[in-house]
Amino acid sequence: MRNSVDYDVIVVGAGSAALTAAITARNERASVGVLEKSPRQARGGNCRFTGGSYRFWHKGLQDVLEFVEDVPEEEARSFILAEYSADTWYNKMLQVTEERADPRLTELLVTESTPTARWLKDQGVRFELATRHSVRQGDRIKLEAGANVMHARGGGEGLSDALFDIAGRKGVEVIYRTKAVKLLSNSRGGVNGVTVQDEEGFRDIKGRAVVLACGGFEANREWRAKYLGPGWDLARPRGTRYNTGDGLRMAFEVGAQPAGHWSGCHSCCIDYACSRMPEGEDIPIPITRNESALGIMVNADGVRFFDEGEDFRVYTYAKIGLRVLQQPQAAAWQIFDGKVTSRLDPDYSSASPVTANSVEDLAEQLRMPALTRTIEEFNAAVQEDVPLDRDILDGRGTVGITPGKSNWAQKIDQPPLVAYAVGCGITFTYGGIKINTRAQVLDTEGEPIPGLYATGEIVGGIWHKAYIGGGGIALGTVFGRIAGANAAGE
Ligand SMILES: Cc1cc2nc3c(=O)[nH]c(=O)nc-3n(C[C@H](O)[C@H](O)[C@H](O)COP(=O)(O)OP(=O)(O)OC[C@H]3O[C@@H](n4cnc5c(N)ncnc54)[C@H](O)[C@@H]3O)c2cc1C
Repeated sequence: MRNSVDYDVIVVGAGSAALTAAITARNERASVGVLEKSPRQARGGNCRFTGGSYRFWHKGLQDVLEFVEDVPEEEARSFILAEYSADTWYNKMLQVTEERADPRLTELLVTESTPTARWLKDQGVRFELATRHSVRQGDRIKLEAGANVMHARGGGEGLSDALFDIAGRKGVEVIYRTKAVKLLSNSRGGVNGVTVQDEEGFRDIKGRAVVLACGGFEANREWRAKYLGPGWDLARPRGTRYNTGDGLRMAFEVGAQPAGHWSGCHSCCIDYACSRMPEGEDIPIPITRNESALGIMVNADGVRFFDEGEDFRVYTYAKIGLRVLQQPQAAAWQIFDGKVTSRLDPDYSSASPVTANSVEDLAEQLRMPALTRTIEEFNAAVQEDVPLDRDILDGRGTVGITPGKSNWAQKIDQPPLVAYAVGCGITFTYGGIKINTRAQVLDTEGEPIPGLYATGEIVGGIWHKAYIGGGGIALGTVFGRIAGANAAGE
């Protein structure tokens, strides 16, 4: 024990946000203890369940090649990648969040995403080019500029393992099966430690500063119903079972200010059978079903219920889970025809779709009499005179039907027709606590709570209504660096 503190900096949680804060603080020569509720074998928080996609601004291929490994020169020449500027990302953030994203935090997230990618690489994280959603153009391969062009080697598990290795080598102490239950305060209201619960009972751990990086409340069934609304208790968490809102509760107990979209969350389509698996059980197969823009979606009555072509997948997928949850039986079907099945994400191969040679056959197999009419009306409404171009918002929509499909509309008419059953998977919650640009937690009067910092999904104020893929890891690591550096300076 040094000067009556156990650690200079205590970090609560051990996901990517937490470990970034811990490594940064340790680089500043602070002693760092990381408290993790899960056992070692389940470590890594939500990060472990991700594909490790990382969003950042860049000037095009040459910029991106600076970060990724093992792309031989010859192969590199075959890729086409347009610039993705900080302005483009920032403006899109404001658009998808209906101008509710905190402008200062969002600007910091965007501008610091690229320096943070460089920092992660310098620390020892390995990145690879993400070619999964690329398209062939002659003998070249076009990478989607607005999509994620880079992910950590080994996906989320690889990123998590790399961060644990780096932290361990630098002398960060990770204490597993140790749940933070209460923040300790001094007489002036400053936070100076944490009460934890482990198998021996309760004890206090003292520190000069505490960084909360222990996620949102998506794994807390009661809070989901309470804050997100009726029905959300039935949504299936896609990630860790340990994010139950503990950090939020602890922060509010010391006066933290709520921020962001407390009735909103990131939710997408997942395999129907997996959406019914009991919470807490690990899902054994790839479950995401994010390709609705390639076809149509209908509910159990055989009726379409939203615009499948509103925007690119990366901007819309995180709000479609909500639409499914609102349907009868909280279920839906994604229907594709033979023209597009080869474009489906590889995750789809983990399920066996219902397959049919005609619309009538599909309607009969799904026991959905209304489906034939839905598809006939949809097919008749497709603007076939507008050229199809999946690289842009092509405006090839439907006319005269509600809801319409705004882009990439194609008739459902070429066998085999396939239908995948989907349910709602919740990824993480948007509501959180308010921080400033130093990652200090603010109280209800807008003043920093001395000694208390936060990063990652526990932070509110950025995501509202929608999310942009790859932004979660970027957010946690950008503010993790800021929180770690400032906490070390306490
Ligand atoms: C299936 C899935 C796929 C995703 N894909 C991507 C992607 O490709 N790219 C991207 O950018 N984002 C993705 N995300 C989001 C991303 O995982 C997070 O935004 C990012 O990892 C930051 O999370 P975090 O560190 O704040 O929280 P987490 O990674 O969830 O870490 C929180 C940690 O806190 C611990 N904890 C909770 N309560 C306590 C307590 N009381 N005491 C101690 N410890 C506690 C938890 O056990 C957990 O380890 C995905 C999420 C999921 C679920």
